[in-house]
Amino acid sequence: MSPGYLPFAGALDLPAFLCDNCGSWQRHFEAPPSCPLCLDARHVVPQAGWRFWVEAEARARFPCRWDEVEPGVWRFWNDPVCGIGPSAYLVTGAAGNMMFEGCTVFSEEALGAVADLGGVDVLSASHPHSYGALWQVQDRFDPELALPAGDFAWSAALRVSWPYDDALHPLPGLDLYVTGGHFDGHAVLHDRERCILFCGDALKFELDPADPRRALTISAHKAFVRGVPLTAAELRRYRDVFAPLDFRQTWTPFEQAGNSGRAEALALIDAMLATRPHAYPVPLAELRP
Ligand SMILES: [Zn+2]
Ligand SMILES: [Zn+2]
Repeated sequence: MSPGYLPFAGALDLPAFLCDNCGSWQRHFEAPPSCPLCLDARHVVPQAGWRFWVEAEARARFPCRWDEVEPGVWRFWNDPVCGIGPSAYLVTGAAGNMMFEGCTVFSEEALGAVADLGGVDVLSASHPHSYGALWQVQDRFDPELALPAGDFAWSAALRVSWPYDDALHPLPGLDLYVTGGHFDGHAVLHDRERCILFCGDALKFELDPADPRRALTISAHKAFVRGVPLTAAELRRYRDVFAPLDFRQTWTPFEQAGNSGRAEALALIDAMLATRPHAYPVPLAELRP
């Protein structure tokens, strides 16, 4: 561990506790009294009190699975899972591997699979709802941890090595852009070669039950669980980020939509800016000419 202030260094190695309600982790000397991510207005508090799991309990309860969704792009997730259940994405490449987002908990076997794929050179996430167990990946692989300065206050379970402002180009072909909106530091990852936008919670899809790679609807939110829409200025900023990017697939932490890209994202935003922002799912068929 370096650099840092040595008298406090041990606190960064305290055990981590998983919030059963939202799936975020805190390092603490005992089970934490509450979860700051649940108390935030973008989520909700548990209706029957706090419950936290340590790593071994979380691994036993929430088996970790993984799959190569597109050539060179791996998804790690937990099923069954507590909380919101985000996926982690490992984008592999000759110049290095980048993991974006974290799943709720990585099993020992999953971390072994990551190691077999070449490990992790750069680690990042769109926003705190999908930090998941990034701390396990940081502890195991010691990658650069790139997070937007705007969300630094949420990264207490981690040690950020590469804070950035509006954009960062951590590896060839991979670009991070801050969109704000859902969170002040909310960011997206653009894979230029594969034309995939890892959009975090900037967008949300409902999938075809018969085809999990096919989205039926698209929507955008300030707070999904409460159905709160974004403001017009927040949508214009999303638009400014998306418009120059070539993407034909859009992957949230929960969906890997293979049939919705830049055109659909801009059409949704333009339709809302022409009337007023809302949080309702819009059928993709309505947005296409
Ligand atoms: Zn929580
Ligand atoms: Zn979110």
